[in-house]
Amino acid sequence: PDALARAEALIATIPDFPEPGILFRDISPLLADAAGLRTIAMAMAEPFVGRFDVVAGVEARGFLLAGALAVASGAGLAPIRKAGKLPRPAGSVSYDLEYGSATIEMSDDLPAGTRVLLVDDVLATGGTLRAGQQLLEQLGYEITGTAVLMELAALGGQRVCGPVHSVFTV
Ligand code: 5GP
Repeated sequence: PDALARAEALIATIPDFPEPGILFRDISPLLADAAGLRTIAMAMAEPFVGRFDVVAGVEARGFLLAGALAVASGAGLAPIRKAGKLPRPAGSVSYDLEYGSATIEMSDDLPAGTRVLLVDDVLATGGTLRAGQQLLEQLGYEITGTAVLMELAALGGQRVCGPVHSVFTV
């Protein structure tokens, strides 16, 4: 608990980024802290220990956490990328953003039925993780769970893609 409180205090809150009115949570200082990174990687994986083979992270900050969780848990890693980045995309899901839309893609390097833990840094409206879940389903993988470092509860993401395990809730 002390270690978690210490880790949470390392997350910076930046007003008006990337747009006026947005309170952006910057996890970089936490990632830079060895004890903090280890603490949050264990805490994100904790409810799912022993039940996943691969951690799937959503570009770009989700990659950073997925790598840490995968190594800490003895699991593999699979990237979920923004459209156009993968040489062999096997699945694709488009979703709405506040302004416009986005598409994410994934390769099918994993055997069908692989147990996947889906992770990202922040749960906001839930659109990104809902799309990630749909992509994993499309490719025939088994979703063990969905985990984030931080949930912005007021934005209602749990209703869109929950239940999501979040280490910190603001
Ligand atoms: P959603 O699709 O849930 O609305 O937004 C979640 C996505 O936006 C995540 O991929 C996350 O990286 C990014 N995001 C939204 N708000 C924040 C924030 O305050 N801090 C960080 N680091 N990422 C955010």
